[in-house]
Amino acid sequence: MKGLVDKPNYIIELLEGGVTLDDVIDGHICEQALGEKSAFVVGDLGALMRQHVCWQSAVPRMQPYYPVKCNSSPAVIEVLASLGLGFICANKTEASLVLEHGVPPENIILSGVCKQLAHIKHAAKNNIQHLVCESEAELSKISRLHPSAKLLLQLTTEAHAAETSMAFGFSLKSCRHLLEAAKELGVQVVGVTFHIPSSCQDLQQAYNHALSDARCVFDMGVDLGFNMNILDIGGGFTGSEGQLKQVESAVRPLLEAYFPPLSGVHVLAQPGSFYVASAFSLAVNVIGKKVMNRHWDSLTQGGNNEDAEFLYYMNEGVYGPFSRKLLGNCIAAPSVHKHVRCAEEGVYPSSLWGPSLDQLDQVVERCLLPELSVGDWLCFSNMGVCGPEEFSCLSTSPQLPVYYTVSTCDW
Ligand SMILES: *Cc1c(COP(=O)(O)O)cnc(C)c1O
Repeated sequence: MKGLVDKPNYIIELLEGGVTLDDVIDGHICEQALGEKSAFVVGDLGALMRQHVCWQSAVPRMQPYYPVKCNSSPAVIEVLASLGLGFICANKTEASLVLEHGVPPENIILSGVCKQLAHIKHAAKNNIQHLVCESEAELSKISRLHPSAKLLLQLTTEAHAAETSMAFGFSLKSCRHLLEAAKELGVQVVGVTFHIPSSCQDLQQAYNHALSDARCVFDMGVDLGFNMNILDIGGGFTGSEGQLKQVESAVRPLLEAYFPPLSGVHVLAQPGSFYVASAFSLAVNVIGKKVMNRHWDSLTQGGNNEDAEFLYYMNEGVYGPFSRKLLGNCIAAPSVHKHVRCAEEGVYPSSLWGPSLDQLDQVVERCLLPELSVGDWLCFSNMGVCGPEEFSCLSTSPQLPVYYTVSTCDW
């Protein structure tokens, strides 16, 4: 596994045939055997390329626009930019980052339904034309600061409102009013955007509503003389190929009915988790351990392990790279690093905690693990959403190291 590709801000390790990501993690764990045993992240840039191939073969009509907030590490932006993706930027910082990577401004959409004036001005100055808008208040700011903007109107969906418990976007009822206001202010409207989160229970129904509503907005827009040609169906792709195909089969017939290819409408989507989730793994070290008995009353001290329950402290928690947990997301159980030798075969109910000794700092409530010792390593996969920026600025260590890899066959 020799051969390091030097980049200004990060180093990519080239993996030659047969060397796997697990080997890389092993290598870094061994290096730390006598060291401080700090947590670290491994990023597999090849995973981004493989997800792109999967996207293109499953949904060739949907142009992917990557939401930068999902993971804004420079290596990710660089790979995705070189694959020709568009980018969804929520603010000036994200837009600057993407522009610095040479992404043309026409491949950038400034999202966010409530934008700071400075961010709208920044978009105008840098020729970023496509902006998301959901209300008259936003419309009047944009018409003043960026009169040549091309707007995508953010349509509300029940699923999105349910997930965030906030109403994002405008409803179909207020649509004509908003379009007329845009007309009056002389701002162009070019399309519609909406978002259906992957947590949505009834995908088919959600897309039925959203796409038929979007068609109504298109019709009204065309009526008022707008050139409506962009339909953005948002995110909500977990990263699994199966789930992508599920969404595809829900959406395809609707697109054929409402926005057939001959209509000339460009169809975009915002796959964020889809690209990055599986590309990053996090290795953490066990720094503390407690044994509890499941049946306090029936077990005497020093009884056998059968009814034992273990509580482990790790060197990172919800105030670090597991911040997703605080937002109500579940963190899947980790795998145990293979150098851990289990005294016996058994697995025990275990809970995993961060180092803060805070009630909220529980990362995994309950999972089955072999008995671990202090100093053992746990490996969490699918950690790509929540970028290394968060990894480093929130983590208890000043900087959580990120080791990038790509295998020679992906490269
Ligand atoms: C976060 C976000 C997404 C996508 O996230 P997924 O996890 O991929 O569903 C899409 N669009 C916007 C505007 C977002 O903020």
